[in-house]
Formats: sequence, C-alpha cells, structure tokens
Amino acid sequence: MTKHLYHPETLSVRAGSEMTEFGENSEALFLNSSFRFNSAAQAAARFGGSEPGNIYSRFTNPTVTMFQNKLAALEGAEQCVATSTGMSAILACVMALCSTGDHIVASRSIFGTSVQLFSNILARWGLNVTFVSLTNPEEWQLAVTARTKLFFVETPSNPLTEVCDIKVLAGIAHQAGAYLVVDNCFCTPAIQQPLALGADIVIHSATKYIDGQGRCLGGAVLGSKVLMEPVYGFLRTAGVTMSAFNAWVFLKGLETLYIRMDAHARNAKALAVWLESQTGVSRVYYPGLVSHPQHALAMQQQTSGGGIVSFEVKPKAGQTAQEAVWALIDATRLISITANLGDAKSTITHPATTTHSRVTAEARLAAGITDGLVRIAVGLEHVDDLKADLSLLKN
Ligand SMILES: *Cc1c(COP(=O)(O)O)cnc(C)c1O
Repeated sequence: MTKHLYHPETLSVRAGSEMTEFGENSEALFLNSSFRFNSAAQAAARFGGSEPGNIYSRFTNPTVTMFQNKLAALEGAEQCVATSTGMSAILACVMALCSTGDHIVASRSIFGTSVQLFSNILARWGLNVTFVSLTNPEEWQLAVTARTKLFFVETPSNPLTEVCDIKVLAGIAHQAGAYLVVDNCFCTPAIQQPLALGADIVIHSATKYIDGQGRCLGGAVLGSKVLMEPVYGFLRTAGVTMSAFNAWVFLKGLETLYIRMDAHARNAKALAVWLESQTGVSRVYYPGLVSHPQHALAMQQQTSGGGIVSFEVKPKAGQTAQEAVWALIDATRLISITANLGDAKSTITHPATTTHSRVTAEARLAAGITDGLVRIAVGLEHVDDLKADLSLLKN
C-alpha cells in the first residue's frame, strides 16, 4: 500500500498531472499513435529500454499515463495498467498471471460477463474455475488446489449487495500461495481501498463510476510493480489498450469522484430507507442499512453503503412477481431503463430478465435473484423526484 502526502480528495484533483511547456491547467489530450525520436540512436535506446519514454500509444501514451498515475494514487497502488474495458482488465490480469492447468476460485456472485469469460472462454484454454459463496470463507478454503493462482471477488456483489471480508479472504489466498483480486467497480477507491485491506490486485471497469456520466468504456488493473509488469507486458502485446480520448474523459471524471460518490451514497441511503417503509416492498438490500446482514462489516471496509440499492417488490393480488416489477419499471418517467450503473442518471433494471437472464432459473433462485427483485443504481437527481418516479410503490 503506497502512502501519499495529501488527502485522497486532493489526490483525485491533483495526482498524476503532468503539464507540457504550454502551461495548460487541464491535462492535455495526446491524440497520437506514435512518438518521434531525435535520432536513430534515440529510437534504438527507447526500443531497447535503456531510455524511458513513449514509443507508440499501444504501449504508453502521456494522457493514459496521467490517468494511470492518478488512479494508482487513489487506490494506494504502486502501479496501474489502463485497459480498453473492464472486461479486458480482467482478461489481462488472468492472461498475465495464469497458465494452462491453473485454477481460479471465484465468487458465484460476480459480474455475469466475468462468469462467461472464466467458464466459456478461458476454460477452453485449460483454465479451471471453481465458483463459491462470496460470504462463506470455508468454501474458499476448501476450493483451493495446488494450482490455485487467483481468488476473484466483487464486494458488494451485484445485485444483492452482499459483502465479503477482504482481510479474511486475503489471508486464505496468501496461505494457498494465491493472489486476491478485487473488482472494486461498485465502490471505487472513494469508498473502499482493497489493497489496504490485504488484496493484491484491484480491477476496475472505469466505464461506471470513474467516468461517472455514461460516456466511455475503459478499465484498469492495479497492484505492485512486480505483479503489474506481466499485465503491462500482455497489454502492449495483445493490444487491449485504453484510448487516449477515454483516458482524458476518465481523468476529468476522477477529479469529481469523491463528491460524486458521497452524493450517490447519500441519495441511495435515503432511497433505501424510504423503500423499507413502503408496504409494496418486502425486502431492501443496501449495505448502509442496519437490516443488511453484513452491515457492520460493510461499515468497517467501506466509508459508505455506495450507490446501488436492490429491493423485492410485493406483487398485488392476481399479479406475478415479474408483472409487478415490469409495471413498476414501465411506470417510471425519470429513471432510465438500462442495466448500466455509475451514471449521474439513475438507472433501473430487472436482473432476472436482463443481466442474469442467461443464468438458469434454479441457479438464479439459489443466488437469491428472484423474479421480484429490482436494482436501482441511484444517480444524482433529487431523491424526492426518484421516490415520486417509483409511483406504484407509494403507500
Ligand atoms: C461493468 C462491469 C464490468 C465490465 O466492465 P466493462 O467496462 O463493461 O467491460 C466488470 N465488473 C463489474 C462489477 C462491472 O459492473
């Protein structure tokens, strides 16, 4: 865990910035593919690695470097490798640190596409994955094999906001000679710093809260210099590089990360409390609520409950759970019907028929994702307008 002189809010505004001779006060966008050398000898020195510096934007680009250094400062990481998407961050991490025959233990409640990547694609290349319960450390312990290289979690989970004990899982991983990877997309470093809790690697989909306004796709892998070296090696060869334009948007996004995450969490908490008091709602999932099963742990690991709230709708007489949810969603006028999250605009989704529709009904139910479950990624609108928009729930 790298320590810095300034408070995190200050780092989010100032860290990583490098100004050119023109003295611009906002970071420059270097929209160029290659870099010129002063001489053939300098070109040789750059390629040979004896002189540091940019060569080609698939490898490094000054705008992307500024983004990497800012995010590394916020996560307390020695190094950050920016990638084209959150999924390519996960791919780069696994390709860099695992080989054929190696084994990953992953939480059952990770992002659906991450499940597909591990079980449908990487499995064809001889990678073995065991899925276990996020909240039961014993299952992680039992799943370990001699070839286990990575533990992979998201906490809080999507959509039920379950929380795992990062310190405990890191301990089990390290005893097994494995690394703990935390996808920190839901919290961002403004709410949770997994490396400080013992995790080895942090993954981000920058597409979500780091952008914060639903514009660009991007991702990042963060950790020690030693672990990031092969990740960077994979990236510059395989080409899953972040575009300079997107890095420039994310740099601007990070400057407001702390005030945005505070506002998302304040709105989400207020909405969660209100939802708990509506007779049309049978259960609310939000780590910031005292009723949340891992509330105490969440409040140790996180500075707030974050921006995601899920809840169970109680169907009216003669209605199925899905009909009740679809009616609620279709009655909204403000909240966007989209599965994305981390946007200033609130979004609403029915996991059972969208993000989790490829999972079998039995597996969905076993995971607690019922037909009556709704997820809201709470945005930055006034919370009273959000309550009014969920008009069908009003008592
Ligand atoms: C969206 C998301 C991803 C994938 O990110 P992309 O930028 O869409 O590739 C990975 N993990 C989590 C938790 C996500 O929400």
